[in-house]
Amino acid sequence: MKNEDNLLDKIVSLCKRRGFIYPGSSIYGGFAGTYDLGPYGVMLRRNLVDEWKRAIEEEDSIAFIESSIFTSRKVWEASGHVSGFSDPLVVCNSCHTKQRADHLLESIGAFADEKMTEKKINEVFDAHRKELTCTICGKKDFGKVRAKNLLATSTLGVFEEDDQEVYLRAETAQGIYINFKNVFDVGSYEIPFGIAQIGKVFRNEISPRQFLFRMREFEQMEMQYFVRPKDAPAAYARWKQKRFEYYPTLGIKKEKLRLKQHDNLVFYAKDAWDIQYEFPFGWNELEGLHYRGDYDLSQHQKFSGADAGVYDEETKERYIPHVVETSVGVERTMLMVLCDAYSEDEMNGEKRVVLRFHPRIAPIKTAVFPLLRNKPQLVEKAQEVYRMLRQNPAFGGAVRFDDNGNIGKRYRRQDEIGTPFCVTVDFDSLEKDDVTVRDRDTGKQERIDVKSLTLHIKEELTK
Ligand code: ATP
Repeated sequence: MKNEDNLLDKIVSLCKRRGFIYPGSSIYGGFAGTYDLGPYGVMLRRNLVDEWKRAIEEEDSIAFIESSIFTSRKVWEASGHVSGFSDPLVVCNSCHTKQRADHLLESIGAFADEKMTEKKINEVFDAHRKELTCTICGKKDFGKVRAKNLLATSTLGVFEEDDQEVYLRAETAQGIYINFKNVFDVGSYEIPFGIAQIGKVFRNEISPRQFLFRMREFEQMEMQYFVRPKDAPAAYARWKQKRFEYYPTLGIKKEKLRLKQHDNLVFYAKDAWDIQYEFPFGWNELEGLHYRGDYDLSQHQKFSGADAGVYDEETKERYIPHVVETSVGVERTMLMVLCDAYSEDEMNGEKRVVLRFHPRIAPIKTAVFPLLRNKPQLVEKAQEVYRMLRQNPAFGGAVRFDDNGNIGKRYRRQDEIGTPFCVTVDFDSLEKDDVTVRDRDTGKQERIDVKSLTLHIKEELTK
């Protein structure tokens, strides 16, 4: 059932129902391309961010920074975003909808690239015009292709007449490049080393779609690794492999992941690959892995006049480090883990939906229930067990107490949140000081002494 068209709809509705993700500004009818995280969304995000950080700095020297969202316009001029960060759009003369020219061309197998100049893509479009059909109304009547810049703008100023248009950052990477020398000059980091940051970015995406896949406001986790030019190809190969091998450690199915080299490189890129995931709507980019040469640092040196070079003790020469970049969206990662974890099965003759999250990323690790909510001794004992687990640093507070509805309903709720273990306190527990622990995936229940419960669950979570 995984590739059914409505899988995405089911995930969207589960996310809303269970408090993971809500459409942005939903009580006002929504605001396209934005989503709000609910309590379990925040916990899932935290786990994914923590895992990313852990993996990124596992064996390398990495400095974490946080650069600002408002940035000087010059940053985006130097980076090439002002002149080149655009989507090629065409308007259908019949139904007046705006569509991506590169996507239309790709749909008939014609070569197209969002990085092409406006002139070039118009030439290609004209050559295929007769074959191109509007995806909405089916007519073959498009206007000229126009490049639409994706930088989101805002204004800053005291009075309206002083207002200055400013760009919101479109990627976190530029904040890293412009701070490279600041970090390097501290003296604690030597080439090779990486600078990483996690933060919000904004893009005026023309057609935000596919839930969290294409948003207008989202979060990136990016790492720029600075190396000597001669060491760059090996560093790139290593990071490519490392990042590809990372996702199965989050429990992602290997057959749903692949590495794909870019067919066309932007002029400065030395090599570029994507890690792709097979989403319900097809194989698509999850993470970008780019060998960018010295382009970014050189551009900022050229535009700002600030020296980006470093001294090589070996060759006694100055050089501009080369950059290997890994870049992935938090929400796109979330969408992948949700799609990968979603499953429907039958347990004890009842249909259920279950998110089979790897325990490390599951928002809630354990839920604790009293068998009956109207029996004070059971509630008291369950509260005691709940506090014991919740206060243990190993669970990071990711333990829930639930006495709402009957046990079956509570299991269904926790299955849909992806909670690996449910602990129930029943009448026997009062006598024997033990509880039942139920496994999310198998439904198997076993009795465990309260005094060994923490260790038992800790071991199960790290299996
Ligand atoms: P795409 O080709 O999908 O537009 P891109 O090549 O523009 O992506 P990058 O600019 O390299 O993407 O961004 C790095 C990562 O940020 C992507 O791999 C993806 O995980 C995430 N990302 C990019 N655009 C969006 C978006 N609009 N919504 C959510 N995540 C995004």
